This record gives sequence, C-alpha cells and structure tokens, in this order.
Amino acid sequence: MDFSDVASYFSRMEETTKRLELTSILAELFKRSGDDLKKLVYLVQGKLMPDYLGIELGLSDKLIIKSLSKASGRSEEDINRIFSRLGDLGSTAEEISSSGIQRPLLKESLTVDYVYNQLIKISGYTGHGSIKTKMDAYIDLLINSGPMEIKYITRIITGKLRLGVADSTILDGLIEAFSEKKYADDIETAYNFHPDLGYIAENLMMGNINELLNAGPVPLIPFKVMLAERLQSISDIRNKMGHNASYEYKYDGLRTQLHFLKGGIKIFSRGLEETTSSFPDIVQNFKSYYSFDSCIIDGESVPYNPETGELYPFQMVSKRRGRKYELTEKTREVPIVMFIFDILYLNGKSLVNLPYPERRSILEKNFKENEYFKLAKRIVSDDEHDIMKFFERSIEEGCEGIVAKSNGIDSIYRAGARGWLWIKFKRDYQSELSDSLDLVVVGAFDGHGRRKGTFGALLLACYNSKDDTFETVCKLGSGFTDEMLSEMPRLLGDKIVEKKPARVNSSMEPDHWIYPSLVLEIRGAEITVSPVHTCAMNIIEKGSGLALRFPRLIKPRDDKKPEDATTTNEIIEMYKAQKKVIEKS
Ligand code: ATP
Repeated sequence: MDFSDVASYFSRMEETTKRLELTSILAELFKRSGDDLKKLVYLVQGKLMPDYLGIELGLSDKLIIKSLSKASGRSEEDINRIFSRLGDLGSTAEEISSSGIQRPLLKESLTVDYVYNQLIKISGYTGHGSIKTKMDAYIDLLINSGPMEIKYITRIITGKLRLGVADSTILDGLIEAFSEKKYADDIETAYNFHPDLGYIAENLMMGNINELLNAGPVPLIPFKVMLAERLQSISDIRNKMGHNASYEYKYDGLRTQLHFLKGGIKIFSRGLEETTSSFPDIVQNFKSYYSFDSCIIDGESVPYNPETGELYPFQMVSKRRGRKYELTEKTREVPIVMFIFDILYLNGKSLVNLPYPERRSILEKNFKENEYFKLAKRIVSDDEHDIMKFFERSIEEGCEGIVAKSNGIDSIYRAGARGWLWIKFKRDYQSELSDSLDLVVVGAFDGHGRRKGTFGALLLACYNSKDDTFETVCKLGSGFTDEMLSEMPRLLGDKIVEKKPARVNSSMEPDHWIYPSLVLEIRGAEITVSPVHTCAMNIIEKGSGLALRFPRLIKPRDDKKPEDATTTNEIIEMYKAQKKVIEKS
C-alpha cells in the first residue's frame, strides 16, 4: 500500500472527533492494507512495535531541524523560525517540502513497507544506531515523499501523531474490518493478556479467531493487570461480595508482574514497561529460591527494613525520570520485598480461569516465604469486627488499607478489568473524600500575578470508559509547589493543541487545549452536582454533571495512561457513597 493513501486516511481522521466515524475510517484503511496490516496498526498508534518492547524512535527535534536544513539548503535559524510560527515539526516539514526541495530523478516508491523500514533504521533497532544513519534515513524519507506524507512521518518520529484513537478504537476498527461484534469481549480479553495490537490484527485478518478466544497469559509478555473497584464501608463490601470474601493488605509500593521462563526473568510495571534491571535482588533471589519451568506472578514491591519488618514509602528508593521510576542507590541500603498476591501461570499451565481461592492455595503451596518474597497478608472472614481490626493493623503496618477479594466460583483473574471481584477500602480522611482521584489534564488557563508566564489553573477530566471520552470534572489551581508550577510549561508545553482534542467532552473553553496524556493525582473535599462540568452529564440530574470541589494536586501519576484515570462510573459511585454517609449522620 502507498503511504500517500495512508496519509489521506490520517487526514480524514484528523477532521473528525466522532468515535464511530474514526472506527469506520480505520476499518476501511485496515481492509485495504493487505500484507501491510501489522505495520500499519503500529503506525496508526505512532509506534513501530508494541510498547513493551521499548522501541523509541530517537531522532530529536534538533536533528530533524538539522536534516531539514541539510536537504533544503535553508539555514537552521530559518527552519527554527517556521517551527516557532507553526508550533509543530510535522507542519514545518510539510512547509519545507512544499516550498521545494531537490528530489531524486528516480524517486523511491513510498510504500508503507518502505516508510516502516526507514523508521526502524531511525529507531536504531537494527543495530546501526549512528546519528548519521538516522539523519540519512529521515532525509531519504523527506526527498521521496510529498508534503502531507512527511508531515505525518515527522509527527510519528516526534511522538505527536495524535489522531485521537485509543487502543480500544483501533480494536473496534479491526473487529469491524475482519470479525464480528459478538467476539468483541473475547478479543478485548485476548488483547489484555497480549497487549500487542499487531498480534491481534494478524490473527483477525487470518481468521484465527480460535487463537484469540483461547488467548491467556504468556510468560515474558506483559499483561494488563486486574484492578479493583472501591467502596466506602466494610458492610457495603460484605454485601457486594455476597458475604464470601477474603481480605488482603493493600501494600503501597509499585505494582510488579514477574515472568519466569526456563531461567529467563522479566519484570514489568503497571504500565507494562519492562523494569527488570531496577530489581537485581529480586531477579537473583527468585532464581535461587524457586525452581519452576515457568511462572507468572502478580504483586506489589515495597522497600522495607529487614530488622523490624517496617515498610517504607516507595519514594524513598526511587526518583522520577521522564515517565519512568528509577530506583536509586538507596536500594543497596533498603531492600525491596515483593508481596505476591496472585499467580497467573505455573509450569506451562494458565491458571487465570481458576477461582481466586484456588490460585491463592497454589501460591501458598509453591512459594515459601523469604526475605525477598512474601505472600500478601490475608484473612478469610465475614465478621465486620475482625475485618475492621485487620484493616487497622494494615494501616499500622504501613499499608494503604485492604483489598477485598471475592471467593466466588466466578472469581477468575480478569486482566485489564476494574471490576467488583476486587474492592479496595482505604483509610478514611475526615472532611475529605476517602480516596484521591487520578485525573487527566485537558486544558490550561493562563496565570496572573505571581503565576504570570505559567499556567494559573488546569482543566481536569475523568475517563468515561463506556464512550471512550474524557469528561471535565474540575478546575485545579492549588496544591502546586513553586517547583511543580515552574515545571508545568515543560510538562505540558508540547501537548498544547489548537482545537479541542478528539474524545474530550467539555463545555468550558480553556485558554489552551491540552492533548490528554498527563495524569495527576488529586485530592478533593466532595463531589457535587455541577452545571459546568460534563462528568456524568444528565445521569444524577438532568442538565447537570458532577464536579470535584476544592481539588488539590498531590503528584503526577506518570505510571498511568489517560485511559487509566478515574472513570465516570467511579465518580458516580463516590458521589452516591458520600450521599449515603451524609444521610446516615
Ligand atoms: P491506587 O491509586 O489506589 O493504588 P490503582 O488505580 O493503582 O489504585 P486499583 O486497582 O484501584 O489500582 O487498586 C489496587 C492497587 O493496589 C493495585 O493496582 C496494586 O498496585 C495495589 N495492591 C496492593 N496490595 C494489593 C493486593 N493485596 N491485591 C491487589 N492489589 C494490591
């Protein structure tokens, strides 16, 4: 397939903000793609491979400007001026390309395959990662393509393709192109265990639906972790669980999935990033304590004091670098223990369809505890008093609260799902919501006075997972330290877009629209009915949505994607729970 066709599809996608329309444009594109489907599925996401392989395109803005200058004969200053005027390197490349550059007499035909292979060279994945090779590959793409093509190619390289399609929209596009709606849930489950849209696309195109219907966890391939719902009281939890639940400590560390296959170990984070090298002790000790052929376990890693058993906050041993957490030298002094709370795979067999009590007993049989690996503390009880005592002890021992887990026959491991099989119960803060919210920045307002030159407030949204949209829920102006405030233009500057991004649902008009990507942890006083915010519009009250009052910034949540933000449904539940508490008192 020619890349110029793909560019026209991209341009059509940019024109619309309607999800159904995006889905059918994608379906049409996928149907036409033939053998290029897998590559195309990655390119639509602005990637070359699934995230967990950690391939970065790796050509900086500066080198792109250098290449544009070299190919066009114009000075770098000249190109920088165009860049400042347009605010986007893709459009800059488009302008340079249309204002005339020397093209070879025999142009390469710019197929998807050709573009993909040049991009692979730019990523350095094939080994020849020198700057010269990368710049040459970019210049080659520039002179062999037209203005619109190079605009999108450049945006892919700079990570700013932003077609407004989430993974779920691409999945829907693939289903519309090659399958039937009745399989949608199963295909999504397959994707949650094997989060590689290229793999899903290939199987759907080849009609291997059975492969997808039976897809489960695979050692060394990360899966999307199971998540918990929340409720505000133990008695609500007991009722919701049908009086048949276990309770585990909710450890406050880093979610850790550990995969082992014939001597090889990989560790992945909640966001599916490989973090094996951050946990040398865990890797080494896993091998010396356990002897399996293969296994996959799920748990939380927490720094602790081996003398006293005291748990420490994770920040003590880590610092943030970009989107990742990196462990610091401190880990030498403060060891990390992995609290294992689930097992998905053992010695060649998937365990995800077994009920939770059976998985737990497999854990107990196979994992003897030691300094580096412990099982999550647990009780099985329906006695409110005992559960409350267990909860209090968890807080005393440095945990965030407890997680109730259904013992029911249907309590399978549901990858990627936030459901009622797990319910978290956290410490109650007086006169505040008991839980923080993770919200996505979708807009910014200019600052005044002391905040002149930076942002004065941010427009935040929750995620409506049913409609795949972001709905505004508050305007955030407090909780910033001076340091965070001065960091904001850096964190958000390159995410400013001209018009309201696709999937954002807002009746407010901020000074700047922000492409949804940054997630912030926010604490607030209460949730109220609001005529200005679009969260849960018309659900609680006709013509009104829900808003968070007195929001305060706690910290950025770099480990979460926008689609991992607190959902509209969770906010509705929080609103209802809060109303109940007020009615009771
Ligand atoms: P939070 O911000 O409250 O940690 P989250 O969105 O990261 O929530 P949830 O599914 O809502 O994730 O809450 C469960 C989280 O608690 C898990 O992601 C996991 O990291 C952590 N956790 C700690 N101990 C347990 C446990 N015993 N069972 C399940 N999850 C646990």
